[in-house]
Amino acid sequence: MSVTRFAPSPTGYLHLGHAFAAIVARENGEHFHLRIEDLDQGRVREEYIAAIFEDLRWLDLSWEEPVPRQSARMAAYRAALETLAAEGLVYPCFCTRKEIAEEIARAGEAPHGEAQHGEEGPLYPGTCRTLSQHAREEAAAEGKPYVQRLDAARAAAMVGPLSFIEYGNLCVADPTRFGDIVLARKDVPAAYHLAVVVDDAFQGVTLVTRGEDLLPATHVQRLLQALLALPEPHYAHHRLILDDSGRKFSKRDQVVTLRALRAAGATPQDIFARLGL
Ligand code: GLU
Repeated sequence: MSVTRFAPSPTGYLHLGHAFAAIVARENGEHFHLRIEDLDQGRVREEYIAAIFEDLRWLDLSWEEPVPRQSARMAAYRAALETLAAEGLVYPCFCTRKEIAEEIARAGEAPHGEAQHGEEGPLYPGTCRTLSQHAREEAAAEGKPYVQRLDAARAAAMVGPLSFIEYGNLCVADPTRFGDIVLARKDVPAAYHLAVVVDDAFQGVTLVTRGEDLLPATHVQRLLQALLALPEPHYAHHRLILDDSGRKFSKRDQVVTLRALRAAGATPQDIFARLGL
């Protein structure tokens, strides 16, 4: 019995890429769940959340209740963070984005910020990993904001070799490929990777379907699952829906939002056809 999910971030209206992801998840799950990934409170809007439900109903994709909102799940993320901290795997990082970019540039890499989510890029150089307890306390006492990072090398050594199943194939995981990822943002006790693994387990997800741009994220998410003793789902990263110029749809392309297409007279059948389904 497979349990799948669609987990949009309500920072814009759903577009064709989202429709494809939702349909793939719906079609592959005997149980299909929805989750609202609203951790980024600065960019989230209630009207986008309402629009997600409306658009999915229009496409006739029925989901199972309840629909968790990440903003209401802080206690679960905090508990997971504490489990990792108790193993000595979490450290506060006081670096600003600018400091990180400068440090990366000093080390001879391209002078831009560190990798995020599924993107590849320079890794966090580990500046705060070796701060003394005294320096940490001093920075905290000064009121410097900080994120919390995973000591990835230590964590990977602790759990040993990891793998994941992608479309039925066994893949070797490389859990340190993103370095010391941010586990908790400055404002909330969670960040993307931590919230996703905690919530996939909470919702009993057995098959994670999502765009292939998030395939790299699977490596570190497997590490977090192992550290937190969470069940291991299988994965199926699907092709991305590209616009006419061959680029990924972005939330800025307002004209291809599902509601814009609907307003222009498209039917759900037109959307399926346009997606090649
Ligand atoms: N919320 C993420 C997004 O909108 C998806 C997370 C996931 O599927 O793991 O891209």
